[in-house]
Amino acid sequence: MVVVMKPEATPVETAAVINRAEAVGVATHPIYGKEHTVIALVGDLTKIDRDVFSAMAGVQKTVRIQEPYKLAARSTHANRTTIDVNGVIIGGSDVVVMAGPCSVESREQVLETAWAVKEAGATILRGGAFKPRTSPYSFQGMGEAGLKILAEAREQTGLPVITEVMTVETVDMVCEYADILQIGARNMQNYGLLHAVGKARKPVMLKRGISGEIKELLMCAEYILSGGNAQVMLCERGIRTYETSTRNTFDLNAVPVLHRMSHLPVVADPSHGTGDWELVGPMSKAAVAAGADALILEVHPNPEQAESDGAQSLKPENFAELMGQLRLIASAVGRSIATSPEPAPANGRAQDVMLV
Ligand code: PEP
Ligand code: MN
Repeated sequence: MVVVMKPEATPVETAAVINRAEAVGVATHPIYGKEHTVIALVGDLTKIDRDVFSAMAGVQKTVRIQEPYKLAARSTHANRTTIDVNGVIIGGSDVVVMAGPCSVESREQVLETAWAVKEAGATILRGGAFKPRTSPYSFQGMGEAGLKILAEAREQTGLPVITEVMTVETVDMVCEYADILQIGARNMQNYGLLHAVGKARKPVMLKRGISGEIKELLMCAEYILSGGNAQVMLCERGIRTYETSTRNTFDLNAVPVLHRMSHLPVVADPSHGTGDWELVGPMSKAAVAAGADALILEVHPNPEQAESDGAQSLKPENFAELMGQLRLIASAVGRSIATSPEPAPANGRAQDVMLV
């Protein structure tokens, strides 16, 4: 950080700034200019708030040189982070597709969808058992019963599971069933929850808040990383703007911007980003072209019957068609769509679904 003193600052005020920094072990390098004195502070500044200097007498401004999200920053990590989810690598050369229903509604619905997305080439199953809904009267999710269904779908299909955790109290429970913990957009800045998943030993997908700046998303990732969990991926899921033609404005800029600012894998969610299934295909292709490391897509066997987000859910046949197009886009940008590390378990889909 650099502290710029006011032209009229006295030597005593300058000395006070130097002493304050040195008191916490930070080295100081003052430059006495004709108009201004500037003091470069070098060292670990996490122990002292920047405002401490801004508030001191004689200080004009402080200028940050290093980003405050040290653990998430690209500049402090030579290599990009890759996350191994039961053999599916997120952040590597292949683009991972996660797909499944918005909400877990029944065993039949999840198994049907899981097999369909697997057959089309998805390698991770999504599904919400705890649902953050705008209205308290809307379907809130099946809770633990839903997590059990997801775990059964993983057992049958071999697909690892990503699911949302909404509260500190349920982190341990969700960890028992999930392979990736999803922190939803509404909880991006729920610091208690970020702290709790920072202690968990599971990968975390952190979604960008509805009005979250990219820098704020990275500071929230910093909470999880500084808690001791290095397996964090960042998800762009659309932000709120003045535009009303779509549910959200899918900020595709965030994909290359996050790659420039951070070493963490970047996931794109065009389902929530657009809110409209007809737009999910074009924006999925755009996200892969822009360098997303993974996509998360909502797929439902009967979108018109869905308990949540039916309007943005793809039918299995549309999802399968999109996967074919994504393979072409991925190869055009020198990547591939990730394939399952293991073949499907021997017991087949038809038999399982008929048992329901
Ligand atoms: C979801 O993934 O279904 C969801 C609720 O997402 P978001 O938190 O981005 O709204
Ligand atoms: Mn949803």
